[in-house]
Formats: sequence, structure tokens, C-alpha cells
Amino acid sequence: MRDTAGGPRVLLRRLRELMAEALEPQARLDRIVREIAQNMVAEVCSLYVLRADSVLELYATEGLNPGAVHLAQLRLGQGLVGTIAASARPLNLSDAQKHPAFAYLPETGEEVYHSFLGVPVLRAGRTLGVLVVQNRTMRHYRDDELEALETVAMVIAEMIATGDLARLTRPGIELDLSRPVSLTGLPFNDGVGLGHVVLHEPRIVVTALFNEDSDQELVRLETALDSLRLSIDDMLSRREVAFEGEHRAVLEAYRMFANDKGWVRRLQEAVNNGLTAEAAVEKVQSDMRARMMHMTDPYLRERMSDFDDLANRLLRQLMGRGPEALAEILPKDAIVVARSMGAAELLDYPRQKLRGLVLEEGAPTSHIVIVARAIGLPTVGQVKGVVSMSENGDAIIVDGEDGQVHLRPQGDVEAAYAEKVRFRARRQKHYQELRDRPAQTKDGAAIDLMMNAGLAVDLPQLSQSGAAGIGLFRTELQFMVAAAFPRVEAQERLYREVLDAADGKPVTFRTIDIGGDKVLPYFKGAQQEENPALGWRAIRLTLDRPGLLRTQIRALLKAAGGRELRLMLPMVTEVNEVRQAREIIDREVRHLSRFAHHLPTRLKLGAMVEVPALLWQLDELMQAVDFVSVGSNDLFQFVTATDRGNTRISERFDPLSVPFLRLLRQIVRAGDAASTSVTLCGELAGRPISAMALLGIGYRSISMAPAAIGPVKAMLCDLPLAELTGLMDEALANHSSSTDIRALLRQFAETHDIPL
Ligand code: PEP
Ligand code: MG
Repeated sequence: MRDTAGGPRVLLRRLRELMAEALEPQARLDRIVREIAQNMVAEVCSLYVLRADSVLELYATEGLNPGAVHLAQLRLGQGLVGTIAASARPLNLSDAQKHPAFAYLPETGEEVYHSFLGVPVLRAGRTLGVLVVQNRTMRHYRDDELEALETVAMVIAEMIATGDLARLTRPGIELDLSRPVSLTGLPFNDGVGLGHVVLHEPRIVVTALFNEDSDQELVRLETALDSLRLSIDDMLSRREVAFEGEHRAVLEAYRMFANDKGWVRRLQEAVNNGLTAEAAVEKVQSDMRARMMHMTDPYLRERMSDFDDLANRLLRQLMGRGPEALAEILPKDAIVVARSMGAAELLDYPRQKLRGLVLEEGAPTSHIVIVARAIGLPTVGQVKGVVSMSENGDAIIVDGEDGQVHLRPQGDVEAAYAEKVRFRARRQKHYQELRDRPAQTKDGAAIDLMMNAGLAVDLPQLSQSGAAGIGLFRTELQFMVAAAFPRVEAQERLYREVLDAADGKPVTFRTIDIGGDKVLPYFKGAQQEENPALGWRAIRLTLDRPGLLRTQIRALLKAAGGRELRLMLPMVTEVNEVRQAREIIDREVRHLSRFAHHLPTRLKLGAMVEVPALLWQLDELMQAVDFVSVGSNDLFQFVTATDRGNTRISERFDPLSVPFLRLLRQIVRAGDAASTSVTLCGELAGRPISAMALLGIGYRSISMAPAAIGPVKAMLCDLPLAELTGLMDEALANHSSSTDIRALLRQFAETHDIPL
């Protein structure tokens, strides 16, 4: 570029002057394209801006027919310009007309130009337009010229993003930046949230684009890079990180990238071209993001996003801003949008300001989702592209009921959702009114409505939901959100907190149910299994690793000193496993009493019925335990050979069917005969229609997610149980296995005006 009219530094200085001048937007654009053309010794320079209807409109040109401005149009993907916009990649061609995508627009009169250099106008990885230079002669633009044009494109991106060009749009036409987008993901937690985007990794808006002195700016960049590297080294050397698997691997990758010569060189080049250090970081980051969007290889995508995170850290370093600044400006209706995030990070946000969570990644069982569910946040996951399409402060709707996300929604969508939210709030109010009413059917049968929990954040729900106790405390969740095995003290602290919060209401602690889909990244003992659901998990694993079980039991015994302790074993297959566990428990009790510890007043031991083999040992089982709880999620999965996490088949068979209900009834009857209490704590308990079926076959205690207690209670308050029991008895006795029980229940509810 040294041989052109002044090079990129001069061009950037001219642009800065133009930005400062009092000019009308169109005049400013016209001057900008003229400056670029002159500086790059090009006959043509044109700017195309992407509209909300996916059309690229010519906004300014030097060299093409000026009459074509605001008339010449190309669709996204059409012609060279459309190809650049769609791919977010530059095109550098010495003979443009030979390119297969070339499309001739007669109104522009561009047929005489051979060479063509076009770059996407990018902001945070999104294409907002395309900037092009053309020459008559066949020339190949050099890399530094490409770099210069990209730098200028960044300045233009800023003009578009700040709304400078909005006045140039024709009535009824919007720029792509404000386009409403509806995306579909997977519903991870029910609820509807209306609010404004808060990018979890805040995209820092760089406003100082041009540097005064490149050398000085290079020093700033180098200093920031140095302290970034130091902070990564520091994190890596901290004790708690030293041995962690996943976390450590990410940091190692960061360290590698922070020293990556290619990355650093590109940053330096951008500074040399006249940008400030932060603008240089943003430019390189934007190019990276654009490339990331087109990657299909998950490993490469992951690595690119590591660069992205690193660039964010560097920006904060340069602008002297920590993430805490975000918390201050958090809107009161924040919807957090993230690629993925740690469970603990979500808890850093003030709960009262959160309305929802949208993730590009995540799985129903990922830690972040477990926490989001625990704090009752409407959550949609697997929403591809949402991070790069969102800007901080954009209006957004998250619908955790059907997995929809509406970004910058139009008025009618917003109105429909506002109505949906009002409807749900009215329903919620009704449930709250029911909270203090006894859980009794219309004909006076008392039912125990218990809630499931697993983290300290769940505890406030105990009083808010009006649950009679905690029917299932999934202790493995503490293990899943931790970075290493929680120490015995940490376990004891949590269990004590739970019992204190329960304030005398019963709590059933299930010993850790890890393995299967509940993976602990730091647990090295587990191997890859072909069928993890049928593998080394739950009680099988803890009996093989008695140290784990002993530690947990000791923590539970100490936490429950002076109170009742209810312990439950997951995935029992043979009654003998209960006996083995009891031996371990007894040994711990003896150990603690030898050291004069305050012991629980009573210890009740229960087993989960999840493995079908137990169905043929029910009488023996009922004698061996104090209570049982049916884990209908796993039991149904094993009885029907249907992977509970496989969305393709998980809806194929209905648990409200004759065979499965007969089997559930057999369990509760065996319990009644032996005077052993029976609860059911799988998902079946939480839906009014299936809860109704359970009551109809004899269950009097069910445990569910706290949010389900209101709807289930509303159902049972209007339920004539004796009549339903008669109906279910008849349906399960006389009819074929294909009787449509669900339809029967619906019909019954309709006749009796029972809300389902
Ligand atoms: C079940 O299997 O039904 C159950 C309650 O346990 P989890 O969902 O934790 O496997
Ligand atoms: Mg289970």
C-alpha cells in the first residue's frame, strides 16, 4: 500500500475527519467511498448495505452510475456481493467476470471493470453489508490492501450499527441489524420470559477506533497481551485448578492461543493500519466470529470460540473494565444469552433481575440447565447462532414451553406473548392461593405432595410451593456442579442446610446416583461404556467404591444429628444390595457413636424401584426397607427398552398405558400389604393427568419438581378419588392392553371439571 495515495493510515485519518464533519449521512457516505477509491487507486468503490429482507442495496458509489444508488439490489447469495455477504468472507479477483457467481447489474454500468476486491462489513461476526473496490485493469489486490479495506469496513460497520444510516432507508424498509429473528431450540425449562438481551460474555463496544500513534498503541497492545498471559498462567498455577480436567484443558488452550503468533501478528497489523489496540482486537475477533459461523467441525468451532473468549478478556484488559460493570447496568428484565456457561456463573447474576436464559449449547442434563431449572428460569438451549445475532439491550422473548426464541420481535408477537405471560401469571396466582390448603381430594383423601430438589438454591421453593417435604433430594447434583469431589465438610454443610430449611418436614436423601448420563468430569474411575444407562452407576458404583459412600453417609449422619435421617439407595437390582449398604451404614453409625457424635434420632432406609428385576422381589424388598420410591423415569426406560434421553423415541410409548400402570399398581399394593410406604418421584408425578392416574391406582404420596405442585394440587382438590379408583380398576382389569387410558382420564376430568 506504500505506493498508493497515502496508505491505510492516511485513509483512516481522512475518514476520521469525515466522521467529525457536519455532513448529511448520504453526503458522508459519498465522500467516504470517494476517499477510499482515491486512496486505493481504484476506479470504483461501492458500499452495499444488507436490509432486513435479505437484500443488499447499493448505498453509495464512486465510479458506478450514481443513478443506481438505492436502486441497484442483490439478494443475499446472489452475485459476487451477495456471495461475500452470505459467506462473510472477502473475494479478491483479478478477472471478476470469470467467477461463477458474477451477476451483471445493467443499471450500474460495471461491465468494464475486471478486478474486484470485496470485503464483508462485519460487526461481531454479523454481516451488515459489503464494501467493494474495482479496477479496469486485471490486477490482484495485495494482502495489505485487503487488510486496509477490512479496516475501513469496520468503521462503516460502526456507522450502520449506531443507526447513522437509518435515515437513508426508504419507508417500510429496515436494515438487517434490526431484523426480527425467530429461532428454535430445545425447551430446557418451562416458563415464558420477556426482556432484554444481556450477553453473558459482554461484547464491549469499542468507540475509539483510530489511533494517534501506532508505536504507542503497539506498546499498549503488547502490555495488555502480557498481562493476559500472566493472568492465565496465574489461573493455571492456582491449587484448585491444578488437577481439574476440563477447566484446566480450556486454560491450557487459552495459554496456547495467547501466544499464538498468527493471532498476535494480525492484531499488530491492524494497529499498524491505524486502529487503536481495542479496535484491532475487535476487528480480528469479528473476522474470527464470521469464520466460526461457517464451521461445522465441532472441535474447530470450540477452538475458535476459545479465541473469541480470549479476545473478550483482552478487550476488558485494554479498556480497564471488569465483568462487574455489567451487573450494574443489568436491565431489570435481563435474559442472559450465552454460548455456554458455568453453573456457578449463572448464580452470580441477581435472580430478581433475570427473566430467562438462552444457550447456543447445553443439554437437558448439563449443569447450567440443572441450575436454571432449580431457580425456575425459563430456558431454551441449542439455539444455533443466537449469540452473534444478538446485541446487548435487544428485545427478546424466550419461550421455555415450546423452545422458541424471538429476537427483536415485532409488535404482534410481543403482544401475543404479553398475553401468554399474563395468563400464566393468573394461573400462578391461583396456585399460590391453593398453597396453604391441605392436599386433599374432593372426597377427603389426604395426599402427600412432596418436591424434588438437589441444590441449596432449591430450598426456598419448599415453603413457596407448599410441599409437604422433600421426597427426593438428588445429592449427586452437588457433585455435578463442583470442580472436584466435594469434601465431607462441604457435603455435611449442604445436608445440614437442607434439614434446617425443611424445619421438621421430612427429607429423603438419595445417595449419589452418578454414572449413566450423570457424568463427573473429574471422576477418573469411570470408563467409556457402550450402554452407560445399563452400566456402572448409582448403587453399583458406590458399593464398589465404598469410600465414596462412607464419606457421604458420614456427612449425612452428622448433619442429621438429633433429627430423623431418611436415606434412599438408587438403582437397586437385588435386595442384597440394600443389605450391603446397610452394613456400611451400620459401620459408620458405630464409628461415630464411638467418638460420641450426636447421631440421628431415627434412621430410615429406603430403596428406589427403577430396575425391573425388583418387581419379582417385591415382598422381600418391602421387608428389607423402611420405604420405597418408584423412579418412574428409569423404570419406564428399562421396562420399555426406551432410552429416556433419546428424543426420537422418548415419546413413542405412553407410560399411561395398561401394562405400565398395572406394574405401578403392583408395587404400591405390595407396599400396602407390608405396611411399607411407597412414593413415586419420577416425572410422571409432576403432570396433572399422570398424577391423577397414580392416585387412581393407589398412590398417596408423590414427589415432583416444585413448579408442578400448584397444578397437581389444583387437580386433586377437584378429584372424586373413589370414583376414579373404580374406573381405573375396571380399565386395568377388563380391557385389552390397548385401551386408551389417557383418553379415558381426559374424559373423566372433563366430566368432573378437573383442571389438567
Ligand atoms: C427416576 O429415575 O425416575 C428418578 C427419579 O431418578 P433420576 O431421574 O434422578 O434418574
Ligand atoms: Mg433414576
